Amino acid sequence: MSVLERKAEVRALLERTRAEGKTVGFVPTMGFLHEGHLALVERAVKGNDLCVVSIFVNPLQFESNEDLTAYPRDLERDLAMLEGAGVEVVFTPLEDEMYPGRRLDTRITVGPLSRVGEGAFRPGHFDGVATVCTKLLSIVGPCRAYLGRKDAQQVAVLIRLVRDLDLPVEIVPCPTVREQDGLAMSSRNVRLGPDERRAAAAIPKTLFEARDAAMSGTRSAAELETIIERGLQTEPLIKLQYVEVVDPATFLRVEQVEGAALITLAAFVGSTRLIDNVQI
Ligand code: AMP
Repeated sequence: MSVLERKAEVRALLERTRAEGKTVGFVPTMGFLHEGHLALVERAVKGNDLCVVSIFVNPLQFESNEDLTAYPRDLERDLAMLEGAGVEVVFTPLEDEMYPGRRLDTRITVGPLSRVGEGAFRPGHFDGVATVCTKLLSIVGPCRAYLGRKDAQQVAVLIRLVRDLDLPVEIVPCPTVREQDGLAMSSRNVRLGPDERRAAAAIPKTLFEARDAAMSGTRSAAELETIIERGLQTEPLIKLQYVEVVDPATFLRVEQVEGAALITLAAFVGSTRLIDNVQI
């Protein structure tokens, strides 16, 4: 497994790979890997001749320095996991490699999708994601990029970005991997204390209840949202920030579920902000 810190090295190696007629699978991450990341890696390894994973905690997509510094990191453990998963290349740039001199005059904005849903609560977040992903996809070159549906709006933003800018990339959305009690795996889960961790299971539980209600015929978005609001009110450690039934392409709220829809939410468990969603 090659662990590369330089953009030029990654670009050169992947250009050689494609020149030999081989395909490239790419999994962008912020590290502190878990089974959710590994599921994407497994798909990328199986579906391509070479798998490249990037590990970069992107300052552009964090609103506060505090959240950025608190983001968990363990590069050695990550590399051991990736080696075991059959990854050929890991790109681990330092901040100065991605943003030399901390200067970046060009930003990518995917609007209006990036301003609704999560974007309404985290201004600038999706611009940061779109900008770093444009850079990473430019460095990696033509590939299949594997993304988790846990970050459903991020998937929609990247599909739009690739389409709008004609990037030679196929986005492959992958299912959310969950813990035994249903909690969506996330690098942020390590920040939960034992009581918070127990309480957090209420998030998937209420989401699944609302999904079941939708499957049994409840069409009103307000009714589905109320199931989640009521369910989470009983957990004093959880503060729901928002819950919305949205169109999966635009992330605009729908009044009635007619075709495919997503129930998306963000909630604070103690001071940790978690997001989750289910498809209906
Ligand atoms: P992150 O390191 O949080 O930026 O995530 C990197 C990639 O892993 C993104 O495409 C995420 O959507 C995906 N991912 C994170 N958690 C999960 C999960 N529980 N199941 C599936 N994919 C995930």
